[in-house]
Amino acid sequence: MKIAGPRDFDPDALKAKYVSERDKRVVAGGNGQYVPVEGRFANFDKDPWVDPDFARAPIAEHSQVIVAGGGFGGLLAGARLREAGCTDIRIIENGGDFGGTWYWNRYPGAMCDIEAHIYLPLIEELNYPPKHRYSYAPEMLNVSQRIGRHYGLYDKACFQTTITAARWLDAEARWLVETDRGDRLTADILVLACGRQSLPKLPGIPGIETFKGHAFHSSRWDYAYTGGDFHGGLTGLRDKRVAVIGTGASAVQLVPELAKFARELIVLQRTPSSVGVRDNRETPPDYVDMSVPGWQRARRYNFQSLISGIRQDRDEVSDGWTALTEAITPPKAAEVAKRLGREPTVDELKYLAEIYDYDVMNRLRGRVDEVVGDAATAEALKPWYRWFCKRPCFHDDYLGTFNLPHVRLVDTGGGGVERVTADGVVANGQEYGADCLIFATGFEAGITYTRLTGFEIHGREGLALSEHWRSGVRTLHGLTTDRFPNCFFVGGNQQSTAAVNAVHLLDEQGEHVSYIVKEMGRRGISQVEPSPEAVDAYVDLIRTSPTNAQLVDFYQDCTPGYYNAEGKAKKGEEIFFGGRYGDGPIPFFRMLQAWREKGALEGLVGADGEAVGNGRIGFISSIIS
Ligand code: NDP
Repeated sequence: MKIAGPRDFDPDALKAKYVSERDKRVVAGGNGQYVPVEGRFANFDKDPWVDPDFARAPIAEHSQVIVAGGGFGGLLAGARLREAGCTDIRIIENGGDFGGTWYWNRYPGAMCDIEAHIYLPLIEELNYPPKHRYSYAPEMLNVSQRIGRHYGLYDKACFQTTITAARWLDAEARWLVETDRGDRLTADILVLACGRQSLPKLPGIPGIETFKGHAFHSSRWDYAYTGGDFHGGLTGLRDKRVAVIGTGASAVQLVPELAKFARELIVLQRTPSSVGVRDNRETPPDYVDMSVPGWQRARRYNFQSLISGIRQDRDEVSDGWTALTEAITPPKAAEVAKRLGREPTVDELKYLAEIYDYDVMNRLRGRVDEVVGDAATAEALKPWYRWFCKRPCFHDDYLGTFNLPHVRLVDTGGGGVERVTADGVVANGQEYGADCLIFATGFEAGITYTRLTGFEIHGREGLALSEHWRSGVRTLHGLTTDRFPNCFFVGGNQQSTAAVNAVHLLDEQGEHVSYIVKEMGRRGISQVEPSPEAVDAYVDLIRTSPTNAQLVDFYQDCTPGYYNAEGKAKKGEEIFFGGRYGDGPIPFFRMLQAWREKGALEGLVGADGEAVGNGRIGFISSIIS
């Protein structure tokens, strides 16, 4: 096919290589190859940042709003609700403070590879200029705490508290939330902001519990053992052989830091990550003009538009994400048609997309050769799959770390670590001794909503959410479901959208929820839920979106990972980004905005099942004080 012009590689050979690398990695168990950190592995879930003996008396109190989860999603919902006039908000959080992902993940080197100015929530409102182009974990935790203080969210927060059940009380028309501390908390509104990937997982390989050394998960870093803190000083590792299992985004960040202190470092790789240039640096005061109102929103839209292939006059963020997205995006069909003098076929367009992807991946593989001295190690570090098959990574020190004499890459050729012994790990049939084993093996994915929350949610007449969604998720806009009044889902759950900058989505959701709650107050509505018809129509929109088939088509050829249910995904909703609003993040945000601007609360009904959007304005209810 002439469509792509001459290239200095053989696309057929590359395709064959991708397929063979993929086939090596598909394992029978799919997502089931992993085990959760509970039961005999519960020690891997221990919160390292709190006093385990913390105790308090049970609370029995009413609030306007209860938010389940104190990560960025819960904080944004809480802040936006405060701005909308809610003063009585109780956030309930498993951890000992706000921060969510950045409360838990404090491993050395932890940072976010999405630009800080668009990632950090509410920094325009806080007038907080990020210190670096990409924020490090302590700053993200600090910003979380600032939000908590600024919006008064600490006042009623319950930390180190796990919700055990949430139940809509029909007679009282309010939510009852019970916790492991014996609390009985009620609220008019329940916001579920329980994250997306918050449950650490381990590989389901034999022997983990037989290991005689010290082992922990990357998201529960044990500084008591390693010594030091986020900023370094891991002197406890000076005389240790450290083994890291996993080479995903967490490992890419922590491996260079471990290498500074460990006597010996072994990195056990199943599949290499793609690692682009990060180019982190301190941000001078004029890095972004933060004086223009709405600057953060505009910058987020600019970034997400470019990532979605929507042309912009300027690339505000101008980093690896936007550069590689541009490089990987083939010309649009109309341009191709002009060049060919005829309409291209679907297969031709697919082929063109593959060629652009090969170009980008060749460049990333070339980077490995440029940085890594040993040819065999370099070869093993090259990713053989399309760019978005796995979470792209960006780092400036990861690849170079493998040039250090005390750092060794153990490439398992897709087979993975086979087992753990008392003295180390076995891979490729060989035992590697280790004193310390770090599982950078990620978080549960492809799980049900109530597995993620960890508790059942009962709507009207005791209906359990797990039952209600037994045959599939049912929502309006990914935010509400029928028969669950005054209940809002915030986060990357299905039927919303997948934004590369996840905080962009959380903020849009927070804004939407606060709009609805504010309108409830303004219109004197005490109860809202979507009508079954509105939910059916929205579910239908999601199910029939052609994006689902396109995602399956793309991801079925990908190397396994949590994006494609470890190579097992057959349906759109089994893909990590699937079962969502088909047109992508920007149209999704615009759709929500248009819905709000219409002011009809379309699809929402009250306790009587009647639409709530018309009339009734003027009565100020107790929801807004
Ligand atoms: P991942 O799920 O991305 O990676 C898990 C790693 O463990 C993979 O390399 C996997 O290999 C490996 N693994 C699993 N089982 C075995 C085995 N038996 N032997 C050897 N290796 C094994 O988890 P992460 O914690 O790295 O990242 C999770 C997500 O968190 C990221 O995808 C990203 O979305 C987010 N994140 C974001 C960051 C940011 O900067 N914004 C930073 C860090 C994380 P294989 O690939 O073969 O499955």
